[in-house]
This record gives sequence, structure tokens and C-alpha cells, in this order.
Amino acid sequence: MTPVLQVDGLVKHFPVSRGLIRRKVIGMVRAVEGVSFEIARGETLALVGESGCGKSTTGRLVLRLMDPTAGSVRFKGEEIANLDKGALRRLRRHMQIIFQDPYASLNPRMTVGEILMEPMVVHGLHSAVERADRVRELLDVVGLLPEQARRYPHQFSGGQRQRIGIARALAVNPDLIVCDEPVSALDVSIQAQIVNLLQNLQRRFGLSYLFIAHDLAVVKHISDRVAVMYLGKLVEIADKKTIYARPLHPYTQALLSAIPRPDPNGRRKRMLLAGDVPSPFAPPPGCRFNTRCPYAQARCREEEPVLRDAGQGHRVACHFFETLPAPAAATALGEVSAQFTARLAAFEAAKQARA
Ligand code: SF4
Repeated sequence: MTPVLQVDGLVKHFPVSRGLIRRKVIGMVRAVEGVSFEIARGETLALVGESGCGKSTTGRLVLRLMDPTAGSVRFKGEEIANLDKGALRRLRRHMQIIFQDPYASLNPRMTVGEILMEPMVVHGLHSAVERADRVRELLDVVGLLPEQARRYPHQFSGGQRQRIGIARALAVNPDLIVCDEPVSALDVSIQAQIVNLLQNLQRRFGLSYLFIAHDLAVVKHISDRVAVMYLGKLVEIADKKTIYARPLHPYTQALLSAIPRPDPNGRRKRMLLAGDVPSPFAPPPGCRFNTRCPYAQARCREEEPVLRDAGQGHRVACHFFETLPAPAAATALGEVSAQFTARLAAFEAAKQARA
């Protein structure tokens, strides 16, 4: 069966310019570099990584909210990179987005009813009476009351506003929804409700999600597969069970090891990754993770690793993933890997000794 979404070799570079009228281009921010993945009908692919890794840019490229520098995006087999405005507008009905900040993404001057009707009007769907019925239905579907259609966004809580954002995305019966950090701005207790709602809606309407997040604990609940991004590149992709039980890329291992959890003494473990993410304006040569990787060797600084098959759809971009020690066995989801912590500490100590 044709996947709902096929992304192949997606690239996005932003020119950086200088001078009084910013005419002189002095370089490129390489936000997305050759990203490829696909999403099946009814599937959720989570795209995870630290801030600035290019995951939100990837989401916007998938929706053609910005033009790619290179690469291909096919929706139900149709290439969308070259569509004209009219064709793109028709296509957008089937591809929607839920934003991170539910307040900023809702027009404060419009009632909720008007907000939910707007996409139907833009796409010429239904009569006025049918739209009003559809608004009531949508509010019911996301757990709000029909009479709340007359209220304005500021009269709702953060979780309720995100429900409105979800209802707006559903208004035009999409096939694919890009969920761009949809729960990051919400309280932890509300996050679970929104994640459950998204899962229920997926089962009910057969939706496909590209779920963009930095929180691997949230991703665990909603994803079928997980793709990990670092500095514009995919470094690992696998089904959820595999990636949480047997992460092979050191960056994925570090992300998993940093999932906070209460320890027996009631304390929480810290984020463990050492150093800062290098600038996408000047990414390091070779493997982009080499400046932070505790296993980096000379080859890592010279040769860029490609995604290689690790079996059963598991792909990893690391020269040495077959021979690296496997903290995965000790890294059940939500547990901090003591092995990895020790290795990072040793790596830091060795780095300081060299300095
Ligand atoms: Fe680390 Fe080298 Fe693998 Fe990159 S290629 S993740 S630097 S071991």
C-alpha cells in the first residue's frame, strides 16, 4: 500500500546575509540535510531531538509551508514540491498542523465557532447550516461543549485551547496531521489528556501523525516508530519497541538516559549530554555528533556516517554501532543508564585532561 507520506532526501538551507541591505550572503544555516522517512496510513512517526535540530523545519517542509532547497515530498504518491498555489491549497485540506502554542495559534478576535468554521469556508466545504452542525460535532469530538462555540480563546484553559486547535485541524477531514510539539506548553497532567485524545481520534478517523517532540517520555505513549534527529540529520529510526529497548546510536542512548524519573530517594536525574549542540551554520566535519560523542574516533571526524540497516527496519547513522558497548540492555524506558553516565563522566574527564 502506498504510504500516506514519503519524504526523500529533504534539504533546507537558510542563507545568512550581511551588510547594510543584507545583500552579501556569507553562508548557509543547514537546518535540514537529506532527511528521508515515510508514514503509513494510521501510523504515528515521532520526530525527536533537541531544540534547533531541524525537526520543526522538517514538519513545515512536509506541509510546504516553506519551500525545500532540495528533496522530494510525496503525499499519497503525489509529489508536492512542484505544485502550484491552487493545487497546494486543495492538498492542504488533507494535511493539517497542530501548533505548540495553542493560544498564539488561535485568533483572539474570533469566537471558537468562527475559528472552526474558517477552514471549511476556505476549502468551500458544506453549507452554512452544515458548518454550524459540524462545529458542534467537532467540539463534542474533542471533549468540549457545543455552547462553548460562542466563547473566545482567552476564556479557555491551555488544555482546552489545544483541544480547539485539534478540532480546527480535524474540521476538513485530513489524512495527515503534523503535531508540532502539541503538548510541550501544557501542564504534565493535561499532556496525558491531549495525548489520549490524539490517540482516540487516530483510531476513530484513521489519521496519520508526524509527531514532533523533544520529550521521549511523551513520544513513548503515542508513537509507532521513532526517528531521531541531530543537527539537521536523521541519526536513527526504528519502531518504538526497538528504539527504547535497543537504541544503537550514542545520541539516542543519551536522550533516553536523560529521561527524568523519580529515583528511590525522590530525586530526579539530570540531562546527561555533555557540551552544546554545534551551530548548524558550521556543523562539524564527519559525524555531526563527534564533538559530543563519548565513542568518537579519528574516522568520525573525517567521514560522515550514512544511515545503515541494523535489521527489521532499524537504521542507524554511526560508523561503529555494531561494535559499541550496548548500554541498551540496561536502558529500559524511563531508567537512567548508569553505564552511559559513567562513560560520559570518563569522556568529560579525559577531555578536561587533554585541555
Ligand atoms: Fe559517535 Fe563516531 Fe558513531 Fe558519530 S560515528 S555517533 S562520533 S561513534
